[in-house]
Amino acid sequence: MEEERKIIRIGFDLDGVIVGKPPLVPKGLIEFLVKKPANASLHFRFPKSCLEQYVRKLSHFYLFRPPLRQNINFIKKLNSKKYELYIVSGRYSFLTSETDCWLKKRGLGNLFKAVFINLGNEQPHLFKERIIKELNLDYFFEDDEETKEYLQERFKEKKFFLVSKKFPLPFYENNFF
Ligand SMILES: [Mg+2]
Repeated sequence: MEEERKIIRIGFDLDGVIVGKPPLVPKGLIEFLVKKPANASLHFRFPKSCLEQYVRKLSHFYLFRPPLRQNINFIKKLNSKKYELYIVSGRYSFLTSETDCWLKKRGLGNLFKAVFINLGNEQPHLFKERIIKELNLDYFFEDDEETKEYLQERFKEKKFFLVSKKFPLPFYENNFF
C-alpha cells in the first residue's frame, strides 16, 4: 500500500518575496525607514505618528507595489495536494486592508491557505518566529538576511531560504520538485 504522504507546509514572507518594492525608491531609503540604524540586535521601527502611518499606507497602495512575477509563478507551481502555502508577513496592523486589496487585485487571494499579518504589532522577526512555530512550517522564504538567520538559528530542523534578485524562488526548485 502506498505510504500516506505528509503535507509539506511552506511559508512566505510578503514584501520582497511576493510583493516588489515601489519603483524609483532606493532600497537603502526603505531600509532606513523600516529598520533601526546599525545596531547589534535586530530591531524594526514601528511608525508611531499618524503621518508616518499614512505615508506607509500610501506607499503600499497596490499600483505602487509590483508583483514579483517569477516568484509568484513558482508558488503557483507549488500549489498542489502535496503542499500547503501560507503568507507570514511582518506588516503591521494598519496595513491589513492594503494587504487584502493587493492579494485580491493580483488574483492571489486563493493561492494561500491562510495569510498572517502582524496584527499585534510585535517585532516582525518575533511575530514570524511565533507563527512559524504555531503552523509548524517545514520551509520558509524570507528576503531579509538578518531575519532569515535569526529564524534558522531558532528552528534548526526547518529550512529557511534567502530570497533576493540573485536568488529568486526558482533558484531553490531542486528542493521541491
Ligand atoms: Mg520582507
